[in-house]
This record gives sequence, structure tokens and C-alpha cells, in this order.
Amino acid sequence: MATAYDVIVVGGGNAGMCAALAAREQGARILVLEKAPEAWRGGNGFFTAGGFRFAFKSFEELCELVGDLSDEEKASMEVDPYTEDQFYDDLMRVTEDCADPDMAMLVVRESQATVRWMRDRGIRWIPMFGRQAYKVGNKFRFWGGLVLEAVGGGPGLIDMAYASAAKAGIEARFEAKATRLLADDRGAVTGVVVRTPAGTEPVAARAVVLAAGGFEANPEMRTRYLGRNWELARVRGTPYNTGDAIRMALEIGALPWGHWSGCHSVQWDLNAPWHGDRKVGDNFQKHSYPLGLMVNLQGERFVDEGADFRNYTYVKYGRAVIEQPRRTAFQIFDQKVLHLLREEYRIREVTKAEDATLEGLARKLEIDVEGFVRTVTAYNTAVQPGTYNPAVKDGKGTRGLTPPKSNWALPLDAPPYVGYAVTTGISFTFGGLKITERAQVVDCEQRPIPGLYAAGELVGGLFYHNYPGGAGLMAGSVFGRTAGRAAAQATLGR
Ligand SMILES: Cc1cc2nc3c(=O)[nH]c(=O)nc-3n(C[C@H](O)[C@H](O)[C@H](O)COP(=O)(O)OP(=O)(O)OC[C@H]3O[C@@H](n4cnc5c(N)ncnc54)[C@H](O)[C@@H]3O)c2cc1C
Repeated sequence: MATAYDVIVVGGGNAGMCAALAAREQGARILVLEKAPEAWRGGNGFFTAGGFRFAFKSFEELCELVGDLSDEEKASMEVDPYTEDQFYDDLMRVTEDCADPDMAMLVVRESQATVRWMRDRGIRWIPMFGRQAYKVGNKFRFWGGLVLEAVGGGPGLIDMAYASAAKAGIEARFEAKATRLLADDRGAVTGVVVRTPAGTEPVAARAVVLAAGGFEANPEMRTRYLGRNWELARVRGTPYNTGDAIRMALEIGALPWGHWSGCHSVQWDLNAPWHGDRKVGDNFQKHSYPLGLMVNLQGERFVDEGADFRNYTYVKYGRAVIEQPRRTAFQIFDQKVLHLLREEYRIREVTKAEDATLEGLARKLEIDVEGFVRTVTAYNTAVQPGTYNPAVKDGKGTRGLTPPKSNWALPLDAPPYVGYAVTTGISFTFGGLKITERAQVVDCEQRPIPGLYAAGELVGGLFYHNYPGGAGLMAGSVFGRTAGRAAAQATLGR
């Protein structure tokens, strides 16, 4: 079989496009295989806000990355530096110290360099004024270590990446699903079998980069690995990430690695469709719960809504909701905080109710009335005095309440009350393949499989239990760039 390509990239999401761009700039001939039709290109990357978490030493460094902030905009922003140490500590803390320290360090150290590399390849950035800052006085106070997003969010990120790839002469085939890895008798990968509507064919290459996402859109695998009821979770993004590349790699002896029973999931509108809607994007999510109360159908609270900034709790709480009766929860707010809710609360496709009384709201949302009133009364009594500030961890909490609300606790007493009904939406899975620092896939004997590289969601070992917001795109970009560069260098004998 002739090799028309040096490197085949399986999956045309964010990680795959970074791999393709990095391999191309080494001079390699590249083919991107994408299972989805072109109208669905970009995988989960399309559905994101395009938020990237990276380390930076100063506000000036950030401004330089954005490039075109006016003096007025700069003066309106208050941003603390986010150091490499802070990023590393956040990764280790939220993953309960399970993250592989070498992988975590690589992501942290390479984060800003990779954002710069992407900028030089046409990806542009803007501050996340709407989602990551609160206006305190006349300043936007940014919080939670996440400041920049791609211009145009996820759709913008994907458009810019594909434009850059086209300019670099990278070929992408849509409706081209990789079904099997080809390997020689030494076990070295020599290509993939591809299925298209026209039929099945082998395509040879000197190296393959797997970047085909996790198994979040595969209900059978979700139930098998994540557990009971996960087949009932809504898929937040692409329906095409069904674990194909993980399976293909395991079939040739790759080592399963990472948190196979763990995933990234969030609170998601109760009536959202079974998988992502490209028009609504990530707006089915409901992320302003630290400003209010969360209860289940019995009217009982079950998490500390104010344990930390939402960036550090929203993933855990997605899982907490699936454990509630009928996998349902309600976020309750009063008039004091309504103006602070994120824009996703103001979309048409939202399941909400409003009422002048707590009893009326509970009835409309079908929450147990007595339980709900009891919970709110106990909560209001437990709220302690203090200065409320949603942009910092204000320590204004409750006393003597289980679970507590540790920050941002205001009494719920300003009607009309508004409640939003949510269930669990899964974003991506944490279990996958083990890779080296050059993104080579490792086999069950801990040896790199010649010619096989991986990046993005299907890499295990970085995220466990929880996840700091904005780290998925960043890790995918770092490992995508690493994988593309290493695969190209190996095939070109460098
Ligand atoms: C709604 C939502 C919002 C998010 N917001 C953010 C955010 O703001 N910041 C952040 O950092 N992360 C965010 N994430 C997580 C982020 O989307 C992922 O970490 C990232 O997109 C993963 O990149 P990837 O390239 O590995 O996967 P994807 O972007 O999903 O790409 C995988 C691609 O592989 C293709 N594919 C699958 N199987 C095959 C096959 N057999 N052959 C060929 N192609 C195949 C798929 O069609 C898909 O296009 C969000 C996720 C969701 C769902």
C-alpha cells in the first residue's frame, strides 16, 4: 500500500486540528479524517465557550495576547495574575491529587506558549467579560483563573482552526470514519481503515494521531463505565464521540488509563435534547447556582452551592444531580441576584417558573411544597451577616446547616422567586489511553506503540473526579500540538 500521507489525524475537533497544524508545519503530508458531516465539524470544540485556562504572570501579558484592547477596556478590567503554581495547584486540588504530575506540569508549562502558538496561527482571543467577571463598582472583576475565550466562542475557534488548516494545505475528509488501526508484525501502526458512505478502504500513513474524543455519546459505554443511570444523561455536545478511537487502540494492545468511571458533567436544562443542538450551543447549561439555592424534588438541598467559584464545583455538581430522584434538581433565586445570572438563563429554551410565594413556586415546579419551605426557612435562619461580593470568595456563609453554603449566602426573601429545572448533561469522559510526554500511546507493557499518538478527550491520566473550567481545550491543544509535532518528526526522521 503506497503512503500518500505521513500523518493521519483521526478526529477534526480542537485537539485534532492542533495536531494537524503542528504536523504540517514540520513539513508532513496530513490527512484529517472526520466521522461527522462537514455541517457538524469541530466535535465538542464547536459547543464550547472557547474558554482557555492558561498561566500568565501579569495583566500586560494578557493584553498583549489579545492585542486590540482599548485603553478604556483595559481600565475597566481587574485581573489577578494566574501563575504556573496556581494552575498546577488547581489541577491537583480538584482532581484530589490523582492527576499525573508530569502530565499536569506539561499542560501548565506549555499552556501560555501554546496559546501564543495558536494566536500566531490565526486564533484570536477576547476577555470573557460576560461569563468570568462580575461588575463591582465600575470595574469588571475577573475570577477563577479563566480570562480569555476564542473570538466567537467555540464556533469561532473551530472556524479559525479550519481556516488556518486550509491555508496550510491540510486535507480534511468528512463522513470518513476510522474503524480500525492497521499495524505491521512488529506492532507499528501503518494506517487506518476508513469507512465512508462510498465504502471501506485502508489508508496508509507513517503515523496516526488519535483525537476522536471520548465515549460520552455512547450510552452503552457510559453505563458500562460510569455506572447506573448514565445512559439517561443528556449529551451536551457532539453525538459522534462514541469511543471509537479508544476501542481501536485497545484492540492493538494500548493500556487503558485514567478515571474510567469519571466524567465531566454539568447542570443542564431538564428538557434539553438527547445531544447538543448547534444553535443553542452550551446555553442549556445553568452555571449561576452559587448565587442561589439548589434543591431536589423533595425540596432538600444536597450540595454546598457556595463551596468555591463555579469553575471548581460545576463538574462535581453535574454528577451530584444524577444521583437525585428522577435525576432532577432546581436552582432557586430571588430578585436580589437575578440581574447577576449568566446569559444562558435568558434563552427561550429554558425550563423555569416564577411565583410570588415559595409555596407557589414549589407547586409550579412540582417540588414537595412542605420540604421546600422547610429547607428555605432553615437556610434563611442560618445565613450569617457579612459583606456580600460575588467576585471574591466572600466567606458570607451559613452556620449550623447541613450542607452549609460557604460563600455568597443571602437570605432567599425577595419575591417573586424564580426556579430553573435541571438534569445532568455529560460533556466528556475521563478514561482513555496512556501517553508519554511526546504524546505516544503506551501499550500494556508500558512501551510506546510505534507510530501511534493521541491527544484530547481520549487521553486518560489528567482529569479525575473534577476539572478546572477551561482546562479541556487547553490540554487538548497542548497534547495536540505535541502529538502532531512528534508524529511528524518521527516520520520525517528528525
Ligand atoms: C457544551 C460543552 C462546553 C464546553 N466548554 C468548554 C470550554 O469553554 N473550555 C474548555 O476548555 N472545554 C470545554 N469543553 C470541553 C471541550 O469541548 C473538550 O475538552 C474538547 O473539545 C476536546 O477536544 P477533542 O478534540 O478531544 O474532542 P472533539 O472536539 O469532540 O473532537 C473529536 C472529533 O472526533 C470525531 N470522531 C469521533 N469518532 C471518530 C472516528 N471513528 N473517525 C473519525 N472521526 C471521529 C468527532 O466527530 C469529533 O469531531 C466543553 C464541552 C462541551 C460538550
